[in-house]
Amino acid sequence: MNNFSTPIIILGGGLAGLYCALKLAPLPVTLIAPSSVGTSGASYWAQGGIAAAVEEDDSPEKHAFDTIAAGAGLVDENIALGMAQEARSRIQELLEFGAPFDRTKHGVFLPSQEAAHSHRRIVRVKGDSAGRAIMETLKKKLDATPSINVIEGATAYKISKHNSHSLSVFCLTSDEKSIEYRCACLILATGGIGHLYSLTTNPLDSCGAGVAMAAQVGAVIADAEFVQFHPTAIDIHTDPAPLATESLRGEGATIINRFGHRFLIDSDSRAELAPRDIVARKVYESIQEGSGAFLDAREKIGRDFPTRFPAVYASCIAAGINPINQPIPIAPAAHYHMGGILTDACGRTSIDHMWAIGEVASTGVHGANRLASNSLLEALVFADRVASDIKKRQIARSDYGVNLPKSNTPNIQSSAIITEIRENMSNHVGVIRNKQGLSLALKRFATLYNKKKPPVVQNMLITAIFIAASALKRCESRGAHYRDDYPQENPTLGSRTKITLNQVLDIANSCI
Ligand SMILES: Cc1cc2nc3c(=O)[nH]c(=O)nc-3n(C[C@H](O)[C@H](O)[C@H](O)COP(=O)(O)OP(=O)(O)OC[C@H]3O[C@@H](n4cnc5c(N)ncnc54)[C@H](O)[C@@H]3O)c2cc1C
Repeated sequence: MNNFSTPIIILGGGLAGLYCALKLAPLPVTLIAPSSVGTSGASYWAQGGIAAAVEEDDSPEKHAFDTIAAGAGLVDENIALGMAQEARSRIQELLEFGAPFDRTKHGVFLPSQEAAHSHRRIVRVKGDSAGRAIMETLKKKLDATPSINVIEGATAYKISKHNSHSLSVFCLTSDEKSIEYRCACLILATGGIGHLYSLTTNPLDSCGAGVAMAAQVGAVIADAEFVQFHPTAIDIHTDPAPLATESLRGEGATIINRFGHRFLIDSDSRAELAPRDIVARKVYESIQEGSGAFLDAREKIGRDFPTRFPAVYASCIAAGINPINQPIPIAPAAHYHMGGILTDACGRTSIDHMWAIGEVASTGVHGANRLASNSLLEALVFADRVASDIKKRQIARSDYGVNLPKSNTPNIQSSAIITEIRENMSNHVGVIRNKQGLSLALKRFATLYNKKKPPVVQNMLITAIFIAASALKRCESRGAHYRDDYPQENPTLGSRTKITLNQVLDIANSCI
């Protein structure tokens, strides 16, 4: 029997979860994650950095303008402006925590350029090591904060409404015991969905658990169809695929096919710095037609590669590729989910006592396509807002935590089902979609839905159904959602998707 004396539970130890826990101090918080807090999520892997208007001739208004343009008509403009206005304060706070952002000896930031930003505004660390450096800084701060009780090795799989004042979270431990934790405030910070795809840049834990758990307790899910595919994942057949940060293209690296032709320039004058969805589709098409795709940093970065991009360099060398004198093979991979649990400006979900922050949330800031490096910023801004929102409340204490018996759910074929979900997602719900493929995936998902399987796998399936059903429903191409049977944007469909579990199950069942 465990006893917990915390009224606040945070699920997830990435940037959103950790920063929120720190901002809630000295309120007692229990932070739960399946593996090591700080290093287990996508945050640790972030390469580029955090978008913020830090240069003299830049402004939050210009940052918001670029964010709105990238989002293809679906960005909530007030949310985007609010986020851009708070960027400088969040960066300043990280600096005070000790984050070693790249600056001159006079303290002036040295931001980099990424696609679709009209200014150099990516605040970074040692070129491509922002995520790691920021998370190490926050982990040190966490270790020195006694109000945060960290539970590692527990995977949340279910939420239930206990009564009008509290929620319960059910977690599975590594020895398959189930534990129920009750709390007055539940903050979901479980990250993204990349691992629902067979080709992804995301870590193992990014498999959409938060969306599925929230949806099963009745939360509204927004914009689930909008998945960003990163055009330059390093294609060396590893799972997950290492990333070659967009800053490489910002610093002049080009994309070529196997004949050395810089094919992006044929269709878009912005070439390598066109928005990610456009670059991803062209890279995908080049690979599909057999011409391949490569990132070529030989001329513009060359010998400086190891010092300017040490993380990417290490991944290349480990795969036997020397980027100083060899082009890097690339492919588009599932990278970021613009959709998620619908939240308001304070990070509140449609369920009382439940908030969502970071990639699992859909705040309306990204619309149909995320502007590069806006996600770490969104995680910080909304974690801070949620902490403020909770601090204003009177919170009941709930000294409660119960060990339940071992879970008897059979584990049979779960890995086969996971492989099937991931392959269907990459093949039919990927960079280029259409009715036929989406219906095929949903038909299979609807059949799998009723099969007995561990709850963690059922959660993966539910989130996959949200993405595929929302993609089938949106009969147009917009931002990262591209349908070759509806290749144009339809102005009458310019509003966000807001949908529930019953609605997506109806769509899936209609495909059988
Ligand atoms: C390779 C890579 C590079 C990137 N580079 C950038 C960049 O330069 N700039 C930028 O802005 N964005 C970048 N992104 C995106 C960005 O890193 C993420 O969107 C962001 O880190 C998400 O933060 P988070 O805290 O929401 O989730 P994460 O950091 O993914 O953390 C999620 C946490 O939840 C835990 N969790 C998952 N499931 C459960 C469960 N069932 N129960 C309990 N806990 C759970 C995980 O273990 C983890 O601790 C990058 C992403 C990748 C993959």
